[in-house]
Amino acid sequence: MRRRLAAGNWKMNGGLASLGEIDALAAAHPAPRSEVVICPPATLLVPARDRARGTPLRLGGQDCHAEPAGAHTGDISAAMLKEAGAAYVILGHSERRGDHGETGELVRAKATAAQAEGLTAIVCVGEQLSEREAANTLDIIGGQMSASIPDGSTGHNLVVAYEPVWAIGTGRTPTPDQIGEVHDFMRARLERRFGAGVGRSVRLLYGGSVRAGNAETIFAVSNVDGALVGGASLTAAEFAPIVSALEAAAG
Ligand code: PEP
Repeated sequence: MRRRLAAGNWKMNGGLASLGEIDALAAAHPAPRSEVVICPPATLLVPARDRARGTPLRLGGQDCHAEPAGAHTGDISAAMLKEAGAAYVILGHSERRGDHGETGELVRAKATAAQAEGLTAIVCVGEQLSEREAANTLDIIGGQMSASIPDGSTGHNLVVAYEPVWAIGTGRTPTPDQIGEVHDFMRARLERRFGAGVGRSVRLLYGGSVRAGNAETIFAVSNVDGALVGGASLTAAEFAPIVSALEAAAG
């Protein structure tokens, strides 16, 4: 059984004043059967860890360096994230691939480092709109998975998030059939590469304009084990109903 997962990516948003959202989310979902993760900016991890103590909420980073330490100004290692309270780290988000030129090989190196520290890597993949329109979606997703996912991956240390780039922050989402096609494809790829046991245990998230209004439909799609949520994770008022939809789907 895969435990469903709702992960909130705050991106470069929020400050100390946002930590009240963690209290409110924990109050709304004091004992969820699903796993609920908040990935705040790195500067907020330690205070967020203190706020989340005693609740089932877990924390994640938004990126890490592939090296454990060294002369890498501005970067954060997987061990630093772990020490600050993270159990997860988002890697290969399209904003990192786009804004920072991250390649699949670099994402794989980062994921390998994260897994070696005991973090669960949430590896993001997704096609551009032009790639979907050219009917290349599955080729793109397959290539990104091959390049970005480490060999030593398991259901404990890997989550894969399908995030069509054209759906992120746009209010547009693929149809349930389109999401299902990609998620079934990703499941088959994982089973082929890692064997049925591991391949079936890795959780697959959908991400891209998930809101309370579309969450139930998305969570009903085959092989969707939860969501990676950006904008709607910034407030408990918006994120808690998405978690509720996931709880209902898990029922
Ligand atoms: C994201 O950036 O991971 C994301 C899914 O963003 P949004 O929910 O805002 O589309």
